[in-house]
Order: sequence, then structure tokens, then C-alpha cells
Amino acid sequence: MLVMKPKVYEVINNLKSLLGELIEINEGLVKLLAPNLAKYSQGRHIEPRWAPVFYNPLTVISRNIDILVMEVYRNIYKSRVHVCDLLSATGIRGIRYLVESNADWVVFNDIDKRAYELIKINVLLNEVEDRATIYNLDANLLLSFYTYKKGKFDVIDIDPFGTPVLFIDSALRAVRNGGMLSVTATDLAPLLGVKNNACLRKYQAISMKVPFSREIAVRILIGYLSRQAAKYELAVIPVFSYSLLHIVRVHVLVRRGAIRADETLRNMGYARYCSNCGYRDLVREYPATSLSVNCPNCHRKLLIAGPLWTGSLWDLDFVDEVYQAYREKAYLHERHLLNILKAINRESRAPPLYYSVKEFSRAFRVREVSPKTLINELRSKGFLACKTHFDPKGFKTNATINIIRDFILSIVKGG
Ligand code: SAH
Repeated sequence: MLVMKPKVYEVINNLKSLLGELIEINEGLVKLLAPNLAKYSQGRHIEPRWAPVFYNPLTVISRNIDILVMEVYRNIYKSRVHVCDLLSATGIRGIRYLVESNADWVVFNDIDKRAYELIKINVLLNEVEDRATIYNLDANLLLSFYTYKKGKFDVIDIDPFGTPVLFIDSALRAVRNGGMLSVTATDLAPLLGVKNNACLRKYQAISMKVPFSREIAVRILIGYLSRQAAKYELAVIPVFSYSLLHIVRVHVLVRRGAIRADETLRNMGYARYCSNCGYRDLVREYPATSLSVNCPNCHRKLLIAGPLWTGSLWDLDFVDEVYQAYREKAYLHERHLLNILKAINRESRAPPLYYSVKEFSRAFRVREVSPKTLINELRSKGFLACKTHFDPKGFKTNATINIIRDFILSIVKGG
């Protein structure tokens, strides 16, 4: 299973028929062979899933964040980190963890033979074969094998296309006490309230299509992890979460203990939203026995989403450390990533459930105010207000819905 050290290019030539045309890609500090995506397009639409092995250059921003998260996890919690890149495709994540985040060992895995062959090549190309083990197994089989035979992991990275729920149960068993699960979901339609039946089937929760759906999506995913963990007497502690592009991504610590698991479940509850006045809140109540469905602001009927996680989506120290790790990695420096990390840094300290300036302009049929102007106005009157990474038109504040509305109307009138 562990790769022998053959002549890389001889191997590549032998695999041409299996993998099609490969091109060299540089990402972070690693180089990689990946399918030439230009060959898998329809018109102007390029679809990485059509290629023999999956690689999406657009999601580099997510991998850049996760490199930092992995490094911080290693620095704070562990002296040695044994990672499982469960659904590796080209191996990009695991290789970057080895090269850029100081991970000590990575187990790569993909059920697809073509991916398996390509991971072997990419591991050799980056000269990390001494710290890599590569499998071509079903993910759940691999996790059970490690749980019961080889030893558990410090970190399990679950990065599928679509829903991660098929792998969560075995991952919870295969992660060490104090370990971390890094979980991606790309099935946004269920998570954003577009396909509620699918959300119920997969996450045993319902979402809602509201101006702050991305935050609901993250909360549903963490809520799902918490409930799955509880039956093993495991607690889930979110340290770093985000949603960008078509991705929902959460990094959670997993700790053993029935009491801790009970405490985790106390963070479960529901989100409520009034489509009449825009009121929103989180109610910490699980199971829901006395959840009121009337708006406390205008008394109309509320929309409800959940069960979901009502606690913090971030650990504040962890968030600070991620920002610090970014500052120290000059090769990752670029404006978009910096803005995301800055926004997360601020919003992790702000009240939950963001607003969007768009919802107010729609509701009151007025021009859209700039979030920056509104945030400055709110701050100048002593309110807490900041941007959110979830939405470029979004903001978080401790002002009530009626106060926000008054501020917006006065900005519109004033200029
Ligand atoms: N993590 C990769 C993307 C992975 S795409 C990246 O960052 O680029 C998802 C991969 O999961 C595909 O390569 C697919 O072959 C693999 N996969 C799907 N179902 C699987 C299963 N049951 N076991 C193992 N691998 C699986």
C-alpha cells in the first residue's frame, strides 16, 4: 500500500490511458498533476466532476484556510498529528497538510482506482512518501480498519462532493479523544432551504430560505455532528467554521465524556425568522417542548429551522491563532483571503444570525445602503456592528430589527 519509490515519469506514462491528459498545477507550496480541466467543459462551463479525478481550482481559498486551521490545531493541541485525508482525489489536501501545516503523517484514501494511482504520483512528486500511506478503499471501511486495528486519527478531513453524512458515524469512532473532524458539505440546496425533504433525510433537520441561510447551513451541519456524536458519549466543539462559494466547512474538536456530550446537546435548538418584520433569533431548546411560533416583535407566525447548533461557530483563541498563522505565511497573502479572515475574526465576537442590506431595501422599497455606512452609523451610536464573511452585503449587530430599520431609513433619507 505504501508507495515504492519508482521513477515518477515512467509511472505517469503507464497511466496516461487511465487518467487522460494531466497538467502540472502549483497550489500553495506544492506541485500537483491533475486532469486538464479544459478537456472537461461544456461551452464555457467547466465541471471538475467530469474529469477522471476531481480537482477544483476555484476552491483553493478553502484549502488555504484549512492549511492554517491544521497548523493551528497542531500548534495548540498536539505534538504529533496523524491525519486522514479520507476522500483524497488528487491528494491535494493531504499533501498540503504535510508540506505546509507540519502534519506528521497522512493517510490518503480514495475509492476510485484512478484517484489512487494519481495520489501515488503526487505524493512522489512532492517527496512526502516517507510520511504517507495510500489506500484504495471505501471510506467507511478504511475508518473502521483504523478504529479497530491500526489506531485512531488526530484529524479526519472529510471533503466529499455533496453531503458528508455518509461518513460521519465511522469518523466519530475513528477520531482520538481531543481530535478534530474537518467536514465539508457542498449539498447547498438542502442546507439552504431549497430542498427541505433532502435536508430532513440527510441531516434530520429542516432549513429555511432566508437572508441568513448560510449561517443556518453551518448550524445544521454542526448540529448534525453533535447529535451523531452524542450517542457515542462524545462532545463536539466547533473551533473554526465558514461558508464560501458552494461550500459549508466546519472544524470541530471531539471530546469524550457523557457529561460533555450532554453539555453539547444543550447547545442545540432552533432558529426563528419572521418574514413580516425581519425579526430573527436562536432558541436554545432541545427537544423543543415549548417553542413559540409567534413573532415577539409583530406577533405574526414565525418560520422555524432546526434542530441546529445555537452555540458559537468559533473558538475565539483559535480564530486569533488562525489569523496569526496567516500573517506568518507570506506566500498565502492576498486580499480576498485576508478579508475573509478579518471578517471571521470580528464576527466570531458578534451576536449570531447576520442581516443583509438587501433584505431591507427589498422590504421597504428603498435604495440599498452600503453595509460599511450602516456599520459605521451603528457603531457611532454605541452599537456593536461588523461585517460577516457569509455575505458581502451582510452585517452583524446587537441592534434590534426596529433600530436597524430606523438607521437604514434615515441613511436613505439623508443621502
Ligand atoms: N478532497 C478533494 C476532493 C474530493 S472529491 C480535494 O480537496 O480536491 C471526492 C472524492 O471522494 C472523489 O475522488 C471520489 O472518488 C471519492 N469517494 C466517493 N465516495 C467514496 C467512498 N465511499 N470511499 C472513498 N472515496 C470515495
